[in-house]
Amino acid sequence: MRVIVVGAGVIGVTSAHYLNAAGCAVTLLDAQPGPALGTSFANAGQVSPGYAAPWAAPGVPFKALRWLLSPDAPLKIRPDGSWFQLAWLARMLANCSHAAYERNKARMVPLAEYSRDCLRGLRAELDLHYDERSLGTLQLLRDPAQLAAARRDAAILERIGVPHQLLDVAGVLEYEPALARVADKVAGGLRLPNDETGDCRRFTERLAERVVVDGVQIRYGADVASLLFRNGAVVGVRLAGGDEITADAVVLAAGCASRALARPLALPVYPVKGYSITLPLHNPDAAPRSTVLDETNKIALTRFDTRLRVGGMAEVAGFDLRIDPRRIATLKRVTAELFPDAGDLGEVEAWTGLRPMTPDGTPLVGASGMGGLWLNTGHGTLGWTMACGSAQLLVDLMLGRPAALPAFDYTLARYS
Ligand SMILES: Cc1cc2nc3c(=O)[nH]c(=O)nc-3n(C[C@H](O)[C@H](O)[C@H](O)COP(=O)(O)OP(=O)(O)OC[C@H]3O[C@@H](n4cnc5c(N)ncnc54)[C@H](O)[C@@H]3O)c2cc1C
Repeated sequence: MRVIVVGAGVIGVTSAHYLNAAGCAVTLLDAQPGPALGTSFANAGQVSPGYAAPWAAPGVPFKALRWLLSPDAPLKIRPDGSWFQLAWLARMLANCSHAAYERNKARMVPLAEYSRDCLRGLRAELDLHYDERSLGTLQLLRDPAQLAAARRDAAILERIGVPHQLLDVAGVLEYEPALARVADKVAGGLRLPNDETGDCRRFTERLAERVVVDGVQIRYGADVASLLFRNGAVVGVRLAGGDEITADAVVLAAGCASRALARPLALPVYPVKGYSITLPLHNPDAAPRSTVLDETNKIALTRFDTRLRVGGMAEVAGFDLRIDPRRIATLKRVTAELFPDAGDLGEVEAWTGLRPMTPDGTPLVGASGMGGLWLNTGHGTLGWTMACGSAQLLVDLMLGRPAALPAFDYTLARYS
């Protein structure tokens, strides 16, 4: 089968790999001059099935109202003037019930766990290195209210069988010794020992190099202007320069641009902006060993080999990639609070990216409902975590092979 994959972010490159490994002839297209130059460029680095949960959760609407008044709030909503934004927010609100939350989480966790296992397999098979670490992740709890909430989360993790550890202060310092410098800020922690970390951009670049060797054709600077249709089915793509490329199937893995490219499908994928900073480590012993997720500010601090990545925040404000200096100041403040001696905050690289989010937090993987067009998009907050599993699931569905997960849970059809 000849397949075109649109988008060379982490989702498109993993899709290309698994398709190629299954015997398809794959052409991977991206408008940018290289892989991982969109949202996969500088995310927070967590491969975290343990945190796989929708943002639409009971209590979030009230928290969101409170956050509207705080300049440092992790979530901000600014009208972008579109009906789509309003409709998307309404759908997200509808997913905040207890029942919807449970259903959506029960879809996200198995995909995330499956994906981590696929990533481990791929890493071993191809000997890929991307500042990866398998040391678990740690949610840092700073006060008794957060400890109580973490106990409730731990009960859910227990029920769904995700290994976890509730830690006291000494336990937190055992896993993240650098926090001893600021022990007064630690009340406890929730550790997820099976989570991993690593640089998503480096992973995507390494895998993109590898798939070329394995026979995938990659065309960078190939801006897909539209899909090509024949008799109502998708038979290829038309590039901005006018070139047409035909195939038996097209996989849309274009992140936030997927909705515009497949306009008739009205994909419920909205760009939710986040920020990160990256700084070189001057004193590695003063840095985290893995990810520390600061529950107070909802910001993740992730150790790469010689760098620290600090990321988080959510702005529902349309396709706006300007960097707000106040957001960068918050990321620097949290870094200085928790790991004051790790690096020089004068040397940070600031970045912003748009998460391709669905209202229920679950990605769209599988048939689109339109002949010839397949979806692998809408991974929102967890695209790095879910990439390998989504790609493997997609390929199994495309080739009619038994899939590891129930197909309906991830299709666009669940919205109809
Ligand atoms: C601040 C922040 C922190 C995050 N932290 C984490 C984390 O810790 N763990 C985690 O699992 N996830 C995290 N995420 C989410 C994760 O980064 C995304 O879900 C993931 O990168 C999405 O990948 P993608 O391949 O779908 O999109 P992208 O990486 O954006 O790739 C889409 C590609 O499509 C290309 N494209 C678009 N339009 C066209 C066109 N017309 N023609 C050709 N090419 C086109 C683009 O150039 C781009 O390369 C974070 C996100 C942000 C913003």
